[in-house]
Amino acid sequence: MTAGTLIDLKNLTLNELSALLAEMGQKPFRAKQVIRWIYGRGVTSFADMTDLSKEFREALALRATISDWQPEVVEDSRDGTRKYLFRLTDGQTIETVRIPMEVERATLCISTQVGCAMQCSFCLTGTFGLVRNLEPGEIVNQVCAAFKDGPINNIVLMGMGEPLHNLDNVVKALQILFLDDGFGYGARKVTLSTSGLVPQMRELGQRIRVNLAVSLNATTDAVRDQLMPINRRYPLKELMAACRDYPLQPRQRITFEYILIRGINDTPQDAKRLVGLLHGVKAKVNLIPYNEHEGSSFQAPTDESIEVFQTYLLSRDIVAIRRSSKGQDISAACGQLKGKLDKAQGLLPAPVRND
Ligand code: SAH
Ligand code: SF4
Repeated sequence: MTAGTLIDLKNLTLNELSALLAEMGQKPFRAKQVIRWIYGRGVTSFADMTDLSKEFREALALRATISDWQPEVVEDSRDGTRKYLFRLTDGQTIETVRIPMEVERATLCISTQVGCAMQCSFCLTGTFGLVRNLEPGEIVNQVCAAFKDGPINNIVLMGMGEPLHNLDNVVKALQILFLDDGFGYGARKVTLSTSGLVPQMRELGQRIRVNLAVSLNATTDAVRDQLMPINRRYPLKELMAACRDYPLQPRQRITFEYILIRGINDTPQDAKRLVGLLHGVKAKVNLIPYNEHEGSSFQAPTDESIEVFQTYLLSRDIVAIRRSSKGQDISAACGQLKGKLDKAQGLLPAPVRND
């Protein structure tokens, strides 16, 4: 929370910032002014906040700081995907991916933890184990830093980490990103992806409105137990019940992410079972061909099996979208850049920009 004894304002929600400013004898509306400077205009020095009195700015500088991130490495993919590696104050690294959607539109994929405790067998991040949770400001700073390269229309919490395993900090970060006087993201612009921590899914629904994505990846408990150990704690029946209960707006749906892995979960029987599981859930399905990596021996599905799977879902009136893995030439799948760099420890490249 603090840099030395200074409070990093990027860690604070509106209420927390208001409380700090109240302690300093300031009126509540000052908090919104400060937020407009930090997030609306990207200002990181109190001296630049020209509509605040000089005395107040000096007093703030004695109590607080505003962290400002620069990526240590930037990698650009041929398809326009850009991957950032950030080094944190304790030397750990995380990654953020900017994915261009159409002209002038982009989605940012952000991390919520260093590593992940969930140990999914297909995921490179899972093999690192959990190192630590990210602070709210470390989640928000990924957006602030990527914003310097241009606007970001949508945010997905699908980078490293399990967001619901760091629920308090993630909720705070979302509250900060949703501030009207700051970035002003609406609930519909932000999607949180989870491996299925059922009690925390229910808590999330009570605490904040945000799009939910669930990494499903299997249609039987036997297969899901093997792919995603969290399923042993919260099996499919409980997971789907939590999905049915998740509060949704009239036209909102839950996104189910389904990584197709050759011979494991990509059969027509799986497609049929998936339709059964989704019964009564306002759902859409993202079909993602497994992205092969050194950390596991799973294989990508054939084009034909993807086609058969998708066609079956569509024939049963389920919205099913085939997602290509973007940025393959720069290892943009979850955790792969970090994996590559950590392996080359000592040979860490100097900051590079390929643009
Ligand atoms: N921990 C959360 C947040 C995102 S994890 C979750 O599991 O939902 C990152 C995303 O990358 C997940 O959707 C995961 O299913 C996907 N992923 C991980 N390894 C992958 C691989 N090898 N190929 C394709 N997608 C992968
Ligand atoms: Fe963690 Fe998600 Fe990877 Fe599973 S898929 S190990 S929950 S980051």
